[in-house]
Amino acid sequence: MKCHKVKRLLSRMVAGEVSAELQRAITDHINLCANCRTDYEELKQEQELLLSADVPGLSPYFVTRTIARVQELARKKREAGSWLRLHWLWRFAAGLVVAIGLAVGIVIGTGLGSNGGTSADLAVLNTIPSIEELFAGGE
Ligand SMILES: [Zn+2]
Repeated sequence: MKCHKVKRLLSRMVAGEVSAELQRAITDHINLCANCRTDYEELKQEQELLLSADVPGLSPYFVTRTIARVQELARKKREAGSWLRLHWLWRFAAGLVVAIGLAVGIVIGTGLGSNGGTSADLAVLNTIPSIEELFAGGE
């Protein structure tokens, strides 16, 4: 498997969205390729950071989807050579996720999200592209 393909699949793998077979192929590559291994380890750390925030109402599904989205955006930025801004972008996104999670938790807590967190999570997820718009404007 080639690096560019591995990098494209990493966020999905961290989110647990790839088949066992694909996961094995990616793992084989990561074991041999220091560059992809670094990317993978960064992703895992970011996921653990978000999961450890333990925000009420924030489902693991929402967290992993958000990570996938931020990573996708981050990769585009990295390709454009804006590596330093990436970390700043990531912190901003993590802060936003925590803030949104708190808001979702309040909505669920007041009984408005009577069918559980899923639809609330999805509604919140739809607001995430505004980050991209925000940063696209700053280029
Ligand atoms: Zn590689």
